[in-house]
Amino acid sequence: MIIDEIIQHLETFAPVYLQESYDNAGLIVGEGSSECNGVITTLDATEAVVDEAISKNCNLVVAHHPIIFRGLKKLNGKNYVERTILKAIKNDIAIYAIHTNLDNVKKGVNNKIAERIALQNLQMLQPKEQILKKLITFAPLDNAEDLRKALFAAGAGQLGKYSECSFNTEGTGTFKPEEGADPFVGEIGKRHEEKEMKIEVIFPGYLEQKIIRAMIEAHPYEEVAYDIISLGNYLSDVGSGLIGELENAVGENEFLQKIKTAFNLQAIRHTKLLGKQIKKVAVCGGAGSFLIPVALSNRADVYITSDIKYHEFFDAEDMLLIDIGHYESEQFTIDLLYDILREKYPNFAVRKTEVNTNPVNYFL
Ligand SMILES: [Zn+2]
Repeated sequence: MIIDEIIQHLETFAPVYLQESYDNAGLIVGEGSSECNGVITTLDATEAVVDEAISKNCNLVVAHHPIIFRGLKKLNGKNYVERTILKAIKNDIAIYAIHTNLDNVKKGVNNKIAERIALQNLQMLQPKEQILKKLITFAPLDNAEDLRKALFAAGAGQLGKYSECSFNTEGTGTFKPEEGADPFVGEIGKRHEEKEMKIEVIFPGYLEQKIIRAMIEAHPYEEVAYDIISLGNYLSDVGSGLIGELENAVGENEFLQKIKTAFNLQAIRHTKLLGKQIKKVAVCGGAGSFLIPVALSNRADVYITSDIKYHEFFDAEDMLLIDIGHYESEQFTIDLLYDILREKYPNFAVRKTEVNTNPVNYFL
């Protein structure tokens, strides 16, 4: 199996199109056409993880955080990023990162956190806008069904729990085949009128090329007329953070204890206790202070995230705000990546890193 095949599977789960604009997800070191002899999943691709990959004969490191995040101008081993890259190249280890695209899918990083505390009725905390597009195309009446089938098979027409959604209106198309054309119907030099079906379907933007290809393949016309429109609608299963509910409300102390156990924490940073019951819980793995106002407006009783700065704790108002640490919040992403690969390739060498890459330590 080649590395590209593994990447393709990971990106079926979390398309790279869904990463944030500042991100650098994707294949960072190595060639996709190389044969893969084993994978190690990790949160961070550090030098120690590359060493581990070498010793375990795995030539692909699948990490959550991209080891190269900003531009690199030199590569001479002066810092941990350069040393990691040099070691990976010298030893033919590929490094792949699946970062904010894995944060932004409903079954991604945050779902792992939600599972850990048994949250129910999960919804995206901040659904992502401008992901959806609409395709409008026109086909002769007899060909409309074949075309619809091809569009649905390519992933168009999916609306929440409904598939094969489309809107269809009959009308009349006109065209005049010019010299050199090879029309499906009509004659050269004469304006032709054809009863056509106008088919409208929506699709997530990352499927655009696939859907256009499927449409052109299934369409009988030599020149296919179509419109693609960007929509302002939200996509209900793509976005930042998750919000859900506990089956039974619990007191704040009990909740904090539960979190401490579920995430193997030594300590928790949190705002002052409010004497409230906890039922509605918002979560976001990694640096999630940007979602404090969103959690507040969704009336979350508590928001669990990490990397909260001093002044941001004041923003919590009447919500309990909990910082469990960046590594701690995302630690189960290692299992998530492992499971995604293991399920697809049960007989392939997939391992979880045994290196604790957390750079933060506590002196208790
Ligand atoms: Zn992170």
